Amino acid sequence: MFTLSYDDGVVEDLQLLEMLNHYGAKCTFNLNAGLLGQQETFTMGDIRQRIERVTADQVTRHYQGHEIAGHGLYHSSLADIGTPAAMHEIIEDKRLLEALTGTLLRTFALPFGAYHAQVKDLLQKAGYQSSRTIISTHAFAIPEDFLEWHPTCHHADARLMELAHTFCEGEQLFEQPQLFAVWGHSYEFNSPQAWKVMEDLLAYLASHREKIWFATNGEVSAYISDYRRLSYSVDGSKIYNPTATTLWLSVSGVCHRINGGETLTL
Ligand SMILES: [Zn+2]
Repeated sequence: MFTLSYDDGVVEDLQLLEMLNHYGAKCTFNLNAGLLGQQETFTMGDIRQRIERVTADQVTRHYQGHEIAGHGLYHSSLADIGTPAAMHEIIEDKRLLEALTGTLLRTFALPFGAYHAQVKDLLQKAGYQSSRTIISTHAFAIPEDFLEWHPTCHHADARLMELAHTFCEGEQLFEQPQLFAVWGHSYEFNSPQAWKVMEDLLAYLASHREKIWFATNGEVSAYISDYRRLSYSVDGSKIYNPTATTLWLSVSGVCHRINGGETLTL
């Protein structure tokens, strides 16, 4: 599985979308419903960054085929503003984005990566199945807890292409499923070289597309949570799929398909 997660809903998303669509990659775009159409300038270290957010109209016109996800109403740090304000940031953002897109939001990215147990609890109660942090694992393991989803790396990580090579061509232990999750902000593509980093990554992954599922964060977390609901007999000969999702698993090197509601007998 390869998935992308891009934050803040800025106008450079539109150029990123063209590139993603060209290579067949899928992305989750994490938007702040209360900031759509606004412009701001902020300072990060020595860099003064001006950002222009997409408008509500651009959201409905340009993101088809990808996922719209929550990122808090005004991008407040949910770990630091108290429970009532955090509830409002989460719920009102979700309500507005759901009304705008006509979809049901299932995934979230934590503003500033800030969270604690209570924030996770609020997200779960709001109906979110996953929330992404900004902690890089430099690994491909599937998160144990999708409400604390640490991605593989940021796109500007010095190890990005090394990780891509390992993901596509490295030795795989015990045929474990691998998840490569990259995150960032499209306003960081502020030079031709920065765009080339993403284009090189996508072109390389697309050249291995026969073994990669290009999916949004929501598709990945929904599939894995359904997969984790499989029921097994003690001797391992029967596996029941209680979900509505067709699930796949490999047993002794043989790939099996289990349709929703069916029992596989080995
Ligand atoms: Zn953000």
